[in-house]
Amino acid sequence: MRWSQVFIPTLREVPAEAEAPSHQLLLRSGYVRQVAAGVYAYLFLAQRSFLKITQIIREEMNRIGAQEFYLPALNPAELWRESGRYDLFGETMFKFKDRNQHDMCLGVTHEEEMTNIARGEIRSYKQLPQLWYQIQEKFRDEPRPKSGLLRLRQFIMKDSYSFDLNDEGLDTSYQKHYDAYCRIFDRCGLKYVIAEAYSGAMGGTVSHEFMVPTDSGEDWVAICDCGYAANLEKARSSVAPVQDPVGDAAPESFPTPGQKTIDDLVKFTGESGGRMIKTLVYVVESKPVVILLRGDHALSETKLASVLQSTTYRPATAEEAFDLHGAHLGSLGPVGIKGARILADQALDGRSNMITGANQDDTHLRNVTPGRDFSAEYADLRVVESGDLCIRCGKPLRVSVAVELGHVFKLGRRYSEAMHATVLDPNGREVPLTMGSYGIGVERILTSAVEQNHDADGMFLPRAIAPFDVVLTAANMDDAGVRSSAESLYKQLQDMGLDVLFDDRQERPGVKFKDADLIGVPYRVTLGKKKLAQGLGEIYERSTKQIHDANLDGLAAALRDRLKAKD
Ligand SMILES: [Zn+2]
Repeated sequence: MRWSQVFIPTLREVPAEAEAPSHQLLLRSGYVRQVAAGVYAYLFLAQRSFLKITQIIREEMNRIGAQEFYLPALNPAELWRESGRYDLFGETMFKFKDRNQHDMCLGVTHEEEMTNIARGEIRSYKQLPQLWYQIQEKFRDEPRPKSGLLRLRQFIMKDSYSFDLNDEGLDTSYQKHYDAYCRIFDRCGLKYVIAEAYSGAMGGTVSHEFMVPTDSGEDWVAICDCGYAANLEKARSSVAPVQDPVGDAAPESFPTPGQKTIDDLVKFTGESGGRMIKTLVYVVESKPVVILLRGDHALSETKLASVLQSTTYRPATAEEAFDLHGAHLGSLGPVGIKGARILADQALDGRSNMITGANQDDTHLRNVTPGRDFSAEYADLRVVESGDLCIRCGKPLRVSVAVELGHVFKLGRRYSEAMHATVLDPNGREVPLTMGSYGIGVERILTSAVEQNHDADGMFLPRAIAPFDVVLTAANMDDAGVRSSAESLYKQLQDMGLDVLFDDRQERPGVKFKDADLIGVPYRVTLGKKKLAQGLGEIYERSTKQIHDANLDGLAAALRDRLKAKD
């Protein structure tokens, strides 16, 4: 393609509305333009990149025997009511009525539609397994769309679904996807971690997320050098032990006037937060539940929900807490509490002689020993923090922000049971299908690649997903010698099968170099009057900014060899 004839609206200034580097650069390099909050138009360069990304995805999905479908985004509400997710997604789903007053919605994902097809057609275990996928638009009415292409209201997903007779079949389908995802993200040139994940609204038990650690992400992931990684909603850790004083004295109250927070108590007593028991009160399905954590730890509501097996919970009001404890917030504790379930984080198990609220205003207790002075159910309830110890190898964990590229779920029979999707097993018994669901955010592959590969001048995408392999820059188009050499090199590079963007514009060399640096193409070949007189051209590698001279005759072959060596 000739730059003089294509639409690449580059911007010199950093757009004021953009914060994430990927957002700034995709706007500056003329890849995308915003249409509405969370809705973007993908222009020429973005679409070329997306076509390369989706081609890689297709090849790897086809390789595991998955079959490509294309389902409508426009769905009848009935399908989603059957699974119970019409209400569950709430306002996140675009919902409206058609002209006949039927409730309609736009697909957030496609478990319901795929299950609906399977239940009507698959009759026997002999037809299993089935792996179905599509690359298609999804819609989410995000409350706060932001960060350019990281949180969109319309986006492209590869989503696939596996249907098996039983759990062993699902294990195989899941592993195939897991391996295919590794190949896809490797081929796209991304550095990523595979994190244990929480299944959330999808249902099911086992799931993994493919995450790219970057400051522009919205998920939090705990990572260890040994290979352990987990979404913070799911991450576990062990904590360095805290030394408790010895002795078996009974709890003893002491006055703490005005000392309400753990920080207050640390200053007041001179003891560390790790020596305190923090007391929280929640109301779960209208019953009070007391939650205990080490003073310096924070509660994970995701873990709490999973322990409670309920999503109907909230922090108690000050009045509700007073009714249960007989004291105001700041002096609550577990000793003597009756009529409430008490949940304690595992880090309190085996501790002794700790400090906590006395259930009397402006008073605390010392010498409180869990198990002796109160009993509790122990569970993993706390948010993992940087420096906590890895459960696999014992080394310190790092907690990092990350972008989720893909997510694989073992759904099990959550949808097939709700929607009555059954098959006959080898004994002629009707059994529900066992399902998996697997997603990749196509835009996130591009945005993550930009986040990982940019500098002040622009971006340098991995060749596999860059819109072009090389920009051929004729520095002086008004020079007849440069022009004719560039035209003939353009033809040679194309004949080699390379994707070439020929910068044949009548612009100053500086403008051309700036644009080429910006738009994410991994190589630039430059022909200028001076070097051409010696029979030379330049090969410039965008990521390192290194320049190599090459003889004009051998230049195309030299570039091809460099590209091959990088693949
Ligand atoms: Zn580890």
